Amino acid sequence: MDIAVIGGGGREHAIIKALKHSKGVSHIYALPGNGGIAEDAECIAIGAKELDAIVDFAVEKKINYVVVAPDDPLVLGLVDMLDEKGIPCFGPDKAAAIIEGSKAFSKRLMKKYGIPTASYEIFDDMDAALKYIETCPIPTVIKADGLALGKGVIIAETRDEARVGLRTIMEDKKFGASGDTVVIEEFLDGPEVSVLSFTDGKVVRPMVSSMDHKRAQDGDKGLNTGGMGTVAPNPYYTPEIAEECMTKIFLPTIKAMAEEGRVFKGCLYFGLMITEDGPKVIEYNSRFGDPETQVVLPLLDGDLLEIMRATTNGTLADVDFTFRDEAACCVVAASDGYPVAYEKGFEITLPDEREHIYIAGSKLVDGKQVTSGGRVLGVVETAETLGEAIDKAYAKLEEVHFDNMYFRKDIGTKALEALK
Ligand code: ATP
Repeated sequence: MDIAVIGGGGREHAIIKALKHSKGVSHIYALPGNGGIAEDAECIAIGAKELDAIVDFAVEKKINYVVVAPDDPLVLGLVDMLDEKGIPCFGPDKAAAIIEGSKAFSKRLMKKYGIPTASYEIFDDMDAALKYIETCPIPTVIKADGLALGKGVIIAETRDEARVGLRTIMEDKKFGASGDTVVIEEFLDGPEVSVLSFTDGKVVRPMVSSMDHKRAQDGDKGLNTGGMGTVAPNPYYTPEIAEECMTKIFLPTIKAMAEEGRVFKGCLYFGLMITEDGPKVIEYNSRFGDPETQVVLPLLDGDLLEIMRATTNGTLADVDFTFRDEAACCVVAASDGYPVAYEKGFEITLPDEREHIYIAGSKLVDGKQVTSGGRVLGVVETAETLGEAIDKAYAKLEEVHFDNMYFRKDIGTKALEALK
């Protein structure tokens, strides 16, 4: 089968490396891919948001299956467009991708179906929102309704911060039309857990849980980033919590979407907070997380393409797969200065053995990989224990070089403490 993977980050590299081990895969294209992905797939210079060009390419090359990894093309309806041409895809159609595309939609869905989440109000009028902020409990959380590259969330510790944050989203339009509507919600406290799941709209099969490290600096300080590292499994996700999540969150969500006429197929990501009142949903994503995927897929015992196609065909219950009872750690190497200002264009040196080094921001110049983004790559190692996986990942990172390299030194420390 000829496969096309849409996207060009570390997540896509992890997906492509896993697909290479699947049965029946003859050729993998990446649209657009990147300098590192080029070692594992044929990169085509078509961006993930160039929907018409993607469809034309898939038709012309007679692609058998398309994996749509990023949120934008899903929310814009790429799966529907390819479906019209008879090309099956991994990922939800536009009607279902709204679970990530609109936070107002997902909050209303959770309220209607009794799925635990932070209490909230929705506003499309700024004056009404400003008035609400004068009396709501503080801290409070303000979220732009639409996609905002993970940056459309403001945690306001004071009413003043809330006022300023609200104006940035609704008046200055920092996130464009994504901020026409805002969700203002209750601040929740507790450890965060990411759970990716495969679903065909009927059954939901969670993958191994993981823990992200979103802040730029050690000790969870500094600005929020796209993610500086991950570990799996997440020690806060105990078997009891997992069972509670399945009955109160995962299955009800799948059923709710089906009842709304929005059957969800693909990877549904549950961003959870384990509060004193039990697990609650912080957010849904309609796709694999980055860099969660990088620690989850190396622990998969199964055929990724077979699983993906089963989500499309509605036969997920029949597929045999599991996740190994081991641990994984991903340390992200970024360009110093990320997520604000940073220099690019530095040559990247990699070790010969790099099965689990996933490249996010590199391009090829004269046949050499050079840095081309904020997050440059993720080094992943697996081991029997989390402590070993962390040590191995940091040891491997010593074999990676580029000028300006920055990484957190404490990925997994919090998880190790929790295990004690
Ligand atoms: P991303 O796409 O990067 O995951 P997003 O823009 O969809 O982010 P959320 O995941 O909803 O945003 O929120 C980002 C972060 O803000 C969460 O990981 C969590 O740390 C914090 N957060 C969000 N909602 C709340 C809440 N109600 N209480 C406390 N913290 C919250």
